[in-house]
Amino acid sequence: MVVERRKPIQIGEGVKRVMAHPLKSKSEELNIEETLDRFLAEPIIADHDVPPFDRSPYDGFALRAGDTKHASAETPVQLEVIEEIGAGQVATSQLRQGQAIRIMTGASIPDGADAVSMFEVVKEYEKDMKQMIEVGRKFTPGQNIARQGEDTERGTVLIKEGTRITPGVTALLATFGYKTVNVYQKPKIGIYATGTELLNIDEPLQPGKIRNSNAYMISAQIRKMGGDPLYLGKLADDFEACFRAISTALEDVDALVTTGGVSVGDYDYLPAIYEKLGATTLFNKIAMRPGSVTTVAEYEGKLLFGLSGNPSACFVGGELFVRPFIKQAVKSMPYLAKMKAVLAKDFPKPNPFTRLVRGKIEYAAEGVRVAPTGLDKSSSVTSIAKADIFIVLPGGTRGFRTGDEVEVLLFNNESDQNPWEK
Ligand code: AMP
Ligand code: MG
Repeated sequence: MVVERRKPIQIGEGVKRVMAHPLKSKSEELNIEETLDRFLAEPIIADHDVPPFDRSPYDGFALRAGDTKHASAETPVQLEVIEEIGAGQVATSQLRQGQAIRIMTGASIPDGADAVSMFEVVKEYEKDMKQMIEVGRKFTPGQNIARQGEDTERGTVLIKEGTRITPGVTALLATFGYKTVNVYQKPKIGIYATGTELLNIDEPLQPGKIRNSNAYMISAQIRKMGGDPLYLGKLADDFEACFRAISTALEDVDALVTTGGVSVGDYDYLPAIYEKLGATTLFNKIAMRPGSVTTVAEYEGKLLFGLSGNPSACFVGGELFVRPFIKQAVKSMPYLAKMKAVLAKDFPKPNPFTRLVRGKIEYAAEGVRVAPTGLDKSSSVTSIAKADIFIVLPGGTRGFRTGDEVEVLLFNNESDQNPWEK
């Protein structure tokens, strides 16, 4: 096989090329209960005021502020309690001078009332078979009333499309009567793991063989990103078998991820498969570690992500290139959020290419500190399991020391800001 020379491009350039091949976004209507963690395909607009009427924020007495004008601890006023209403009830009488209505939290303010007094500040008693209260302080008009529309006015765009549906967003959807919600369809991403050395997870170890961890890892990554992973199986390093499987799979997925076989070894058939397919290679080398062999090709409008077989490299390729591709399709924030942090451990290795070190973040009182989570090798599995960030060490730098400021990408925080653009 001819070993072609590969020209590395920067991560940002690779991301740009992937983003230039967007999937067509499609939406679907789901029952509100099925939409947690999905992405809104329509904005949420308030179709009524919140609260929809003036209501009481406390259990107490609705009264007329004017009646308390001269009230004080020494000269309390007496009001007659003419009715009692709970949440969901509406008073039948209009409040007149010298009267009060016992009211519970959430109940509509009765006509004629313009303030609410909490239970604690009045004295209740009975006089001539009448329920009375004694009020020993002044109230101002509007005091202790939750005004109609004070939270949200009708017509306000509350949440924009592409927002992840969290429990809080769900509360809003319910408030405005969205029994069903328009969300983006999950892009269907096929997955093949390649490698004759791979065992299924339920097989015992054999000499020279390892278990296929990548397929499950990338599948979990895709699910977390909002995609619909479809694990198609593992493939032995056999050109014809791989070619057939990949070309068939492409027919019923939105994009295909393969792991392994993109390097320049004797059994790395992916480059030749892309060629035989007639796919256009967007790139086949990225100036990064791990995962420099990460390849992306396009065939008939579908992207083929050829990720490295090395677990850490595979993980990095998924987060950096598959993530924004999926997030773009659900119109959501495509990138991992970036922040600055202080290195808590020396990192003496030089960085010929941009290095993405799997690390752990610690939000300490003195500041945000980060440290690598283990073996910094592309083959490492344990370092990924313990990591919640990438420590990004720019290409062309020497080593880093404890106390140096570094940039990190957070696995659990998303952003619209492309971290590879200044
Ligand atoms: P490759 O990219 O095919 O050259 O594989 C690079 C390294 O990753 C080799 O040591 C493989 O055994 C290992 N590897 C490949 N595929 C997987 C996988 N699905 N799960 C775990 N390790 C893998
Ligand atoms: Mg291989």
